[in-house]
Amino acid sequence: MNLPRTLGELRTSRFSEDILRKRHVKDELRENLVARLRQTGPIFPGIVGYDDSVIPQIVNAILSRHNFILLGLRGQAKSRILRALTTLLDPEMPYIEGCEIHDNPYAPICRRCTEEVAKHGEGTRIAYLAPQQRYVEKLATPDVTIADLIGDIDPIKAARGGHELSSEFTVHYGLLPRANRGIFAINELPDLAGKIQVGLFNIMQEGDVQIKGYPIRLPLDVALVFSANPEDYTARGKIITPLKDRIGSEIRTHYPATVEEGITITNQEAWTQRDGYKLQIPKYVGEVIERIAFVAREDKRIDKRSGISQRLPITCMENVISNAERRAIRNGEELVVPRVGDVYSAMPAMTGKLELEYEGEMRGADNVCRELIRTAIAKTYDEYFTGVNMQQIVTWFDLGGEVKMGDTATTDEIFESLQNIQGLTEKLDRLAIKQKDCPQVQVSGAEFILEGLHAHKRIGRNEERVFRAGEKPARAEKNFEREEPPMRPRRPYN
Ligand SMILES: [Zn+2]
Repeated sequence: MNLPRTLGELRTSRFSEDILRKRHVKDELRENLVARLRQTGPIFPGIVGYDDSVIPQIVNAILSRHNFILLGLRGQAKSRILRALTTLLDPEMPYIEGCEIHDNPYAPICRRCTEEVAKHGEGTRIAYLAPQQRYVEKLATPDVTIADLIGDIDPIKAARGGHELSSEFTVHYGLLPRANRGIFAINELPDLAGKIQVGLFNIMQEGDVQIKGYPIRLPLDVALVFSANPEDYTARGKIITPLKDRIGSEIRTHYPATVEEGITITNQEAWTQRDGYKLQIPKYVGEVIERIAFVAREDKRIDKRSGISQRLPITCMENVISNAERRAIRNGEELVVPRVGDVYSAMPAMTGKLELEYEGEMRGADNVCRELIRTAIAKTYDEYFTGVNMQQIVTWFDLGGEVKMGDTATTDEIFESLQNIQGLTEKLDRLAIKQKDCPQVQVSGAEFILEGLHAHKRIGRNEERVFRAGEKPARAEKNFEREEPPMRPRRPYN
């Protein structure tokens, strides 16, 4: 690359003084966004399900040159969106070489650089930053200090250089000045202490701040973006009013609106492309996994305030594949086909992501999780088999039939025992499974039917994964409904 290396060279390049002086970071974001809007492709590749809701609002915020905040529950791709903003920055940005706060070569704000330019003039050295180097992210916690965020007076620096303590030479810069001419993202903004919010506001508004009583002037050029849980953000007193006032746009994120959108995200994010074994994930397995999140988001026993992260179906999918992989490896099989039963083995990937209400805690995370899976299986089963007469299969079990679908049995063994269940294999065409398909695929499909019947309490299943007659007499099939437990008082928030 032939980029100018001195201030003199820079002047006659495409980074002329005329252009660079006026091009603040928000102008840069805006101009590059305008260019992208003229093209036909997606604005932020890889962000799914926000095309008609969140993305247009973000575009408007950037076109308006606003600082903005994303309000949403966890696992709604907030951080991913904020990081994607770097794709709207120029491929390279010139600054004065060696400057900690990446000073504009034509308008340095730090003392070191003003002296540097005075001394070397047109020979002042120029360096460049790539987009990712211009993105600084901080998770807000109550113990973040002014020193972390804005800076500190460094007495050692002062003693070594023989400077006054109040001199700008003695400042050790914090994260915000280091994000100068870039994007600064603060996650969970309401967790920032009030006086830090004041410091943040002062630097946004006036370009100056006091560090340990010394007034320091720092007219920074930063695009500030934030994220927060909506309830925390709107709670009275959590955000100081002048700061709230300076945040141009509040944009609400949301969970995927449909199971299909959720599946697209999970497929994109989950680690499925593994080496060694051929993997075939049946559609209904993905649907069951995704529905667990949907069912959980509706469940009264789970804390609505913290939500159910999209990471739940993602890690669940990874664990489901691993369980199927483990079975295939142990049984010496080449083809890995996950089953609905593998979802129960993936509970360790889920229980930690469920914040339970009092009632849920009484029930226990494992039990709640098992019930969510069962509901998700029942709903998915209904998508394929509502109105299909399964009486023949149920009767086979009622007459004493049993089949074990454990992890240790080979596919061929299970496949053979499934042939005994009258009426089962012909139901597989509802799942687009044909008789010529591999045994692994057929076994997975048959197991889904049995799990579905079990979820509807039409047949039973014990701990050893033996399907057998249900405890209750067979009754007419109806759509699954979980019994709602009585309401209990909400656990106090602490
Ligand atoms: Zn500087």
